[in-house]
Amino acid sequence: TTTSTPHRDSAGFRAESLRIGGERVRRERTLDVFNPYTNERVGAVPLASVDDVREAFRIGHAYRSMLSRYERASILQRACALLRARADEGAAIITMESGLCRKDALYEIGRVADVLTFGATEALRDDGQVFSCDLTAHGKKRKVITLREPLLGVITAITPFNHPMNQVAHKVVPSIATNNRMVLKPSEKVPLSAFYLADILYEAGLPPEMFQVVTGDPREIADELITNAQVDLVTFTGGVAIGKYIAAKAGYRRIVLELGGNDPLIVMEDADLDRASDLAVQGSYKNSGQRCTAVKRMLVHKDVASEFTQRVVEKTKRWKHGDPADANNDMGTVIDEAAARRFELLVEEAVAQGARLLVGNRREGALYSPTVLDNVRPEMTVVREETFGPVSPIIRFGSIDEAIAISNGTAYGLSSGICTDRMDYATRFANELKVGTVNVWEVPGYRIELTPFGGIKDSGLGYKEGVQEAIKSFTNGKTFTMPWG
Ligand code: NAD
Repeated sequence: TTTSTPHRDSAGFRAESLRIGGERVRRERTLDVFNPYTNERVGAVPLASVDDVREAFRIGHAYRSMLSRYERASILQRACALLRARADEGAAIITMESGLCRKDALYEIGRVADVLTFGATEALRDDGQVFSCDLTAHGKKRKVITLREPLLGVITAITPFNHPMNQVAHKVVPSIATNNRMVLKPSEKVPLSAFYLADILYEAGLPPEMFQVVTGDPREIADELITNAQVDLVTFTGGVAIGKYIAAKAGYRRIVLELGGNDPLIVMEDADLDRASDLAVQGSYKNSGQRCTAVKRMLVHKDVASEFTQRVVEKTKRWKHGDPADANNDMGTVIDEAAARRFELLVEEAVAQGARLLVGNRREGALYSPTVLDNVRPEMTVVREETFGPVSPIIRFGSIDEAIAISNGTAYGLSSGICTDRMDYATRFANELKVGTVNVWEVPGYRIELTPFGGIKDSGLGYKEGVQEAIKSFTNGKTFTMPWG
């Protein structure tokens, strides 16, 4: 792909502006963005006022997109090509503001490119249905045709820090594919990747009214983002507490919530332990353990627990962590030093209550080493609550009944990974785990960007994301009927 826009291969300091109605808007009050590894100040973003947010909604609401399916798909395809051509630069921005290692950041760029590609193909696909009405004795010679229309109002999107660019892509791409207008507030910890993706979309031809980006202090602007009368839908990915706050505030408008997780990897006694331990470390440490679907608990049958644990410890010791910019490292930092300190305390608390620390729990600033804890009991805080970092707590169980009970015993219900070749086990887990996803022989985080994804219980209200499902929730269905023959 060729492009005339100059860009750098490495990321320098970025002084950002709000993106409101095609304007780059600067504000006197700004928020600094720091590299969690070097502590260097790598960017500054404006603190939007409530008036700035209102202006973005006003512009979005007044705009009606008339883009054809072909035009929407073309914009998304062009954005995909631009992003792929600049993968190095985009990954460098993710790494510098989040501390995610180069490997993780490049992987994320690939995921964003997938979201853009699926958005383009879905934009081209009309999912309308046609019904004949002469189906019953009192039927008529008519047909019903279903249509999907963009929302009347604007969509508010609020995203978390853990995948700085892909979380944004999963909001904005289905919005573009359906001709909606969206105002995004990205995580204040990682706003630079969001602006970067926005600029690629504009360069690809997106009318700026269809996607505006505001950064600010949630204490000042969050309520306006949720309750502004011109907002029809709030789509939020983040923690449970804020998700429930939004649910309480949102009133008579649609909400889509993707909240926390506490996903198990369940290892049955028949499992190939080499394969299971590979999934265990990948599921725990990729993206520095900061995935809603990271392996947060390992439930292991007692007959194989010792051998499994030994393999996990060996593989954990080989998991290279350190400078996020070093392309050889498997893991960078966690989001900030405060998060790393929290993991240290949770692990110390578990050890004080009888858990055994086998490796890890070493911290240097925001670098936190991959950690394996054995003899963990379900009531310990490290597994009862969501530990959003590279910690592998191992819980032993004696039967499948016990595994299911422990797995279902937290407030969360996002996903799960199962290691077994037995169909009777696999089908019981599929039927009895109270979660949104059951992956046999994969990590809980396994998905493709197109397919339905999302949780129940405290993990979400059951509305799914993934490009196809998001398109459904971002549209109003209409039925059109007419005489036929
Ligand atoms: P967070 O809940 O702290 O913040 C998320 C976003 O909410 C940020 O943009 C923040 O500025 C904003 N916010 C803060 N106060 C708000 C308020 N009062 N009203 C509205 N918005 C407000 O989450 P985080 O720490 O950035 O991300 C980690 C969490 O996200 C974890 O719990 C993780 O499991 C969850 N997560 C869930 C999914 C999923 O798809 N289910 C995916 C990734 C992360």
